[in-house]
Amino acid sequence: MIIPILLYHAVSDAPSRFIAPFTVSPAAFARHLDAITEAGGTTLTVSQLRAAVRGDGTLPPRPVLVTFDDGFRDTLTAAAPLLAARDMTATVYVTTGVADGVSPGGDPMLSWAELRELGAIGELGAHSHTHRELDTLPLADVRREVVDCKRRLEDGIGRPVHSFAYPFGYSDPRVRRVVAEAGYSSACSVKNALSCVDDPDYGLSRLMLTATHTDADVRGWLRGAAPIGQPDERLRTRGWRAWRRLRSRWRPVPPWAAVGSPAGEMP
Ligand SMILES: [Zn+2]
Repeated sequence: MIIPILLYHAVSDAPSRFIAPFTVSPAAFARHLDAITEAGGTTLTVSQLRAAVRGDGTLPPRPVLVTFDDGFRDTLTAAAPLLAARDMTATVYVTTGVADGVSPGGDPMLSWAELRELGAIGELGAHSHTHRELDTLPLADVRREVVDCKRRLEDGIGRPVHSFAYPFGYSDPRVRRVVAEAGYSSACSVKNALSCVDDPDYGLSRLMLTATHTDADVRGWLRGAAPIGQPDERLRTRGWRAWRRLRSRWRPVPPWAAVGSPAGEMP
């Protein structure tokens, strides 16, 4: 069974230049949700999906997942009402270090009070504390990003957090082990591929929406017109990663660094 897991960032008519390439308008987002309904899709949170795959719960005939990364305020103000109007749910991955703050482009991020409000509507997951490329960090820093984020988020919203999303989608076996040991039961990467019930718990494939995707692209994905997730990455991605590791050894990568990322891999 294929499972489209859609990945959104900002849903806004007025994004900063920083996030504009990864922003969809509220009108486009509403059309995507209507396309899910037209395709006979049923939305689940990531943890609901993984529980059903493990046999704890029932998988609907056509599961579709809506996820958001980073925690832009418009997830609550623009996207959540459109989801609620259609009785749909979503999973929102929060970068705890920018809660109550702004993005590097100045976009407002969710406050803790807003996060608690959002937690009542769908699932909140963790997206690290400072949005670093985890696979390039020393182990102690990876642990801080993964473990501290879970603790801060759970303390802040007053409920347990079960799922993680790798910043920029980047992980490696060491990072995935830390995520598992921290007590998360699933983790999302990017891959721009459809997920399926055989996806590994700590490597769920997602399809990232950008400003240039059309309604037809989304309808195609919902019909299954996209690659299906593979446990391994493409060679091109591996080459990029090797270079990136080398670079990060010499020049510390600031939080949210996205300059130089290949198209389709940020933020
Ligand atoms: Zn992110």
